[in-house]
Amino acid sequence: MTSFTTTDTPLSAVLEPELAERITEAFGHQSVGDLLHTLPRRYRQHGQRYDKRELVDGERVTIVGTVASAQTREFRTKKGRRGEILTLTVEDGGTTFKVVYFHARGIRFLLPVGTVAMFDGTVKWFRNALDLTHPEFLVLRPVDGSRGQFRGSGDLAALAKLSAELDAEGGQSLFDRPLLPIYQARAGVTSWEVLGAVVTALRALVPVMDPLDPTVRAAAGLMELDVALRKAHLPATIREKDEAGYRLRFDEAIALQLLLGARRRFAARDPAPPSPRRGDGVRAALSSRLPFDLTGGQRTVLDQISGDLTAVEPMNRLLQGEVGSGKTVVALLAMLQVVDAGRQSVLLAPTEVLATQHHRSLTAMLGDLGEKGRLGAAEEATRVVLLTGSMSTAERRAALLDIVTGEAGIVVGTHAVIQDSVEFFDLGLVVVDEQHRFGVRQRDRLRSKGRDGVVPHLLVMTATPIPRTIAMTVFGDLEVSELVELPGGRRPISTSVVPARDRPKWMQRVWERVREEVAAGHRVYVVCTRIDPDTTDDPGDFRPPLVSAVDLHAQLSGSHLAGIRVGLMHGRLPTEEKDAVMADFASGHLDVLVSTTVIEVGVDVPEATVMVVMDAERFGVSQLHQLRGRVGRGGLPGLCLLVTNSPESGPSVERLSAVAATTDGFELARLDLEQRREGDVLGDAQSGALSALRLLSVVDDGELIEIARRHAEEILDSDPGLDRHPALAERVERLSGSEASAYLFRS
Ligand code: ADP
Ligand code: MG
Repeated sequence: MTSFTTTDTPLSAVLEPELAERITEAFGHQSVGDLLHTLPRRYRQHGQRYDKRELVDGERVTIVGTVASAQTREFRTKKGRRGEILTLTVEDGGTTFKVVYFHARGIRFLLPVGTVAMFDGTVKWFRNALDLTHPEFLVLRPVDGSRGQFRGSGDLAALAKLSAELDAEGGQSLFDRPLLPIYQARAGVTSWEVLGAVVTALRALVPVMDPLDPTVRAAAGLMELDVALRKAHLPATIREKDEAGYRLRFDEAIALQLLLGARRRFAARDPAPPSPRRGDGVRAALSSRLPFDLTGGQRTVLDQISGDLTAVEPMNRLLQGEVGSGKTVVALLAMLQVVDAGRQSVLLAPTEVLATQHHRSLTAMLGDLGEKGRLGAAEEATRVVLLTGSMSTAERRAALLDIVTGEAGIVVGTHAVIQDSVEFFDLGLVVVDEQHRFGVRQRDRLRSKGRDGVVPHLLVMTATPIPRTIAMTVFGDLEVSELVELPGGRRPISTSVVPARDRPKWMQRVWERVREEVAAGHRVYVVCTRIDPDTTDDPGDFRPPLVSAVDLHAQLSGSHLAGIRVGLMHGRLPTEEKDAVMADFASGHLDVLVSTTVIEVGVDVPEATVMVVMDAERFGVSQLHQLRGRVGRGGLPGLCLLVTNSPESGPSVERLSAVAATTDGFELARLDLEQRREGDVLGDAQSGALSALRLLSVVDDGELIEIARRHAEEILDSDPGLDRHPALAERVERLSGSEASAYLFRS
């Protein structure tokens, strides 16, 4: 054992090397700090009522109770050997457990009626009784006269020894504590072994230095770190445990916010290309001929962006707004403001299909304002060029030339545009549509794309809104704007769930409805989860097979939709074919498009009125919401049909019904978060720093994060290099992990 244990001390220096090794293996913990920052899963309170979820077959429970009855019965094994079964009833706060030991001669004497003991084992319901068979046990309070306190089996006995040592030192006995911490067990390590390790580590730990100033602690009502680390594991009251947990989560939040704040400040140091609004340029020209008035929300957001673009600090803004909320128009006007300043804008889409689509719709919106160089173009006109990987060499060369000479005011492409060695004449603004895959690293790459060391402005757009506090955390270095209303005249999409299995007639009605829409001159999407039929045969999977796009396309063309022009679209088609199919559907050469989710984001076919989603239960909430945003975009009412083979009364249909019940993107985002945890929701946006969070939940700790952010800002204001806060600096660095952060704090 080392004489001086800190949170950095390796576990093997504090624990039995063999146990340390197993803990590292099971949990990945290397240091004392790692171990101590993994908090108990729950705390067992003596006499506490049981949570129903704990009392299901196979759950591991820990009970602390009194032996109310004890019975022994002899039995004979098949081979004729004698044995003894000990059956106890143990009462714990109103719940009675049946505890059974076979061959239990020695145990009987340790657990007479009246003994208070702890049992740890797996619950089983048997004939309406709760059984624990062969749980580990530990005698906490023997009946008068008998010996045996802290006698028990297995790990509990080892723990008891530790507890006795604590007693001898005058500490509070582990088992007299009102709240007994129960840790997550893992293969090879029991909850008790973790507890033993934690107690050992806490005993050895010298008082931990607090990285937060007393003033911050006082203002935020925080416990001292050293106290918090200890109380989080061994609290005397629920309140202590809550306060300790709060403090530890706050530390993660403030480190994260310091990192994000520093990143934001760092980005603001670069000069940006100021592009003030002009009254006589192409932006003004387009504004005056838009076929509609911008909504109040669009105007507000555009004003914010307009102001940002005017500044010499680079804009870093996230625009959230659900599908159809009119983000594209806002982005186009912003791009034109930059064009008016003699610079270029680029719009990046996640896929080639979407880039092509954007190119088409921007060109259409601009009309002769986008035809610079052609006869009959407007005087203020600019040029919009598309740049994709599947263009011919000649096309590509022409596009690159337009870009480098500045002829092209607006460039549309996929993310490859900023990765490749595309050279701009003078890039002023980058708009990223559907940011999911746009992280810090890509943003850094933009820096090099501006002219003379100037950093282009950045606008990131997403149709998958996330609650503000989360946006603030995930994209803490971005300002956030939101579009909440749908542009006037748009009718909300109505959504229905079709339980195809339970109601086959409804399914027929779906295809009839599709025919009716087509007859009315409208277009219909049918989305499937997979391209080909699933031929793998998993005998354990009793779910009905998933509908494949290839199958359904063939089937519909020959039956329900015979005589209707049905197209097929999926990700494996060559790019030209994808574009051709999409163009045919957009122009009305196809009436129905059977497709996989390649059409998910951004596709705009105003005549599309119905979206049929097959196997809808396989999609996430926000994905469904995005899909249905593909219809009802042209002033025609939209209908979305969520088809599922799941039972009508099951949780899947319940979830789909919830999606059907609201079109509020923020409400759906909340729903989504309830069902998945943040890791899934944030997806790739989850940078290294976020995955390093152990205790903080960006879903549940919104308020705490906001408080931490304010304190982080104050600290950075007075000490931008964190020179007077070395312990905090170290935490930030640790949090940022692989993304080196030191440069952020250098002046
Ligand atoms: P998003 O990109 O947010 O999904 P779009 O910008 O594509 O939304 O807008 C969806 C549709 O609504 C487009 O056809 C667009 O022309 C139209 N639109 C946008 N703003 C308005 C408005 N203020 N009034 C009426 N229609 C609008
Ligand atoms: Mg869009």
